[in-house]
Amino acid sequence: MRVLVTGGAGFLGSHLCARLISQGHEVVCLDNFFTGRKGNIRHLLGNPDFELVRHDVIDPFKFEVDQIYNLACPASPPHYQFNPIKTTKTSVMGAINCLGLAKRVRARVFQASTSEVYGDPSVHPQPESYWGNVNTIGLRSCYDEGKRCAETLFFDYHRENNVDIRVVRIFNTYGPRMHPNDGRVVSNFIVQALKGQDLTVYGDGSQTRSFCYVDDLIEGFDRLMNQDEVTGPINIGNPGEFTMLELAEETLKVVGGPSKIIHQPLPADDPKQRQPDITLARQHLKWEPTIELAEGLKRTADYFRAEIA
Ligand code: NAD
Ligand code: UDP
Repeated sequence: MRVLVTGGAGFLGSHLCARLISQGHEVVCLDNFFTGRKGNIRHLLGNPDFELVRHDVIDPFKFEVDQIYNLACPASPPHYQFNPIKTTKTSVMGAINCLGLAKRVRARVFQASTSEVYGDPSVHPQPESYWGNVNTIGLRSCYDEGKRCAETLFFDYHRENNVDIRVVRIFNTYGPRMHPNDGRVVSNFIVQALKGQDLTVYGDGSQTRSFCYVDDLIEGFDRLMNQDEVTGPINIGNPGEFTMLELAEETLKVVGGPSKIIHQPLPADDPKQRQPDITLARQHLKWEPTIELAEGLKRTADYFRAEIA
């Protein structure tokens, strides 16, 4: 197949492109390099089945493809809050452009949605049937509401135009090829520990997240995209739930060194808890995560050790 991956030079996109190439597909990787890097896909650049296109998903695009994965959108809070209007445009216009293309060329189209659609959840763990608790006017809203609107567009194109959609709700995922300055918690803690700097826990560190290693996530993408039973939305994430203090302690155990844990102010609207209910993924995709946090942190630390050396 010929497959378009928007946001293909980013953290998740680069792993997805590599997997698609290894499966024998042709890949068109579209990216504006806002948070992505050529370095993430350098190993694919000489491959005749891999094509890199510098383009912004806000502007229309045309490719003859069989499948589209829409991953283009900054995912780290400092990056998506850098230009919040652009973030909303990226999610909404990017979805419209992907869906319009999918409709024209009859491609199956996949949306990288997020656990952020649940906001600061009052239901725990979060099943797909939970509608969420999202602030419409806060600092995170550009991302959360953009992603919620993208889901709406996916389901309206599906109902109105019979577009063949798949929607995944991704819970916090980490691994090699995150940017050292990405700003998300796992890369921050590992890079801080490797540099011997103190680990910055925001707030009292009692807020929780559930961390999925990237290889497990990409396996879930593949299973969702290449089956005919369900459209989603479907949660993909690791149900292992940790407080940020526990994550900091685990990181120090894995990386070692003299770093201490320090506290910094909690950002506005920071969700207090988050854990995926993966019943549907287990049932429909036969998917579950296989990589424990300690092992995933070790692999990610090995990557950053080489990267920042
Ligand atoms: P990332 O920031 O590393 O990758 C995003 C990619 O999209 C980058 O290559 C960036 O340059 C590109 N991009 C951004 N705006 C663009 C635009 N307007 N036009 C073209 N390209 C653009 O983040 P990631 O972690 O790889 O996330 C990928 C996708 O998965 C995002 O849509 C994100 O919302 C979603 N997601 C990720 C996580 C996670 O934990 N990693 C969780 C939930 C959802
Ligand atoms: N966080 C932290 N220290 C950091 C970066 C983040 O304690 O250096 C916290 C942040 O406040 C949040 C959690 O870690 O509670 C996850 O943050 P991240 O930005 O990785 O993802 P998100 O909040 O979008 O789930």
